[in-house]
Amino acid sequence: MTTKGTCALCLSQNVDLQDSHVLSQWVYKRIAFVPGTTGPKNPVMIRGGVAVETSKQIHGDFLCSACELRRGNHENYVSRICWDSDGTFPIMAKLCPVPRLRPGEPFTLADVRDFDAGSAAYFAVSTIWLADAMGAAGVIKPLQKLNLGPKHREQLRQYLNVEQSFPTAARIAMTVFRPDNGPVHFWRMATLPFTESDHALDEHRLLVCGLEFQLVVGALLPIHLDEICLVHSSRKLVGFRSSFAAGGHARGYSSSQPARSRAASSRRSIRG
Ligand SMILES: [Zn+2]
Repeated sequence: MTTKGTCALCLSQNVDLQDSHVLSQWVYKRIAFVPGTTGPKNPVMIRGGVAVETSKQIHGDFLCSACELRRGNHENYVSRICWDSDGTFPIMAKLCPVPRLRPGEPFTLADVRDFDAGSAAYFAVSTIWLADAMGAAGVIKPLQKLNLGPKHREQLRQYLNVEQSFPTAARIAMTVFRPDNGPVHFWRMATLPFTESDHALDEHRLLVCGLEFQLVVGALLPIHLDEICLVHSSRKLVGFRSSFAAGGHARGYSSSQPARSRAASSRRSIRG
């Protein structure tokens, strides 16, 4: 039975609300896949530094069919460029590394050919917004480490509903995790959105199958974000590296294999 209500994105009233998923079902399916095995597997959630296998997905009746469809189109695009459990990672073939802009940067930058940066931005912002707005509305249990705040939640809603352009006080950047022989397979992991705050800046982060997104919001944005912002930059530049940047990684999912590695157990304690 469908629920009638107000769509939280376009604010249409008395509409059928769809079952909206914070992370799409394809994300869980890909990261739960373990090579050489058959049958369904559950992804592993990292909780308090301990990996726990779980089938729990975060979803609830929230958006109308038109808003779900718009978000779904952008999700489909990202699903076609990120890592897949068959071992393909299509965006890798589109990356052309460029010289480091500053010495000591932990990652290189790459130009991306044939890349729909706007679609990638919409996907990331909508996932972060959805998780935050569903928690604020009481549709899901609020994610402990995620907080957009009412002002930015509303500005981003207007951007996602194509009422307003992307907020001037926000930047959205993307990093691609290169598969390597390291102990942790970051390219086959996912996290729920989480926030890290530093002085006047809030950084909302999300990792999905080898693509990490950083939505940075604040009055004094670092100028280097202008050239890598998926929305504001005229270049299509993404970060490109093989290890995770320092910082807390609130709640994460991954396939069983890498989650039990030593790096997973060194994560900051979190509550599931
Ligand atoms: Zn709607």
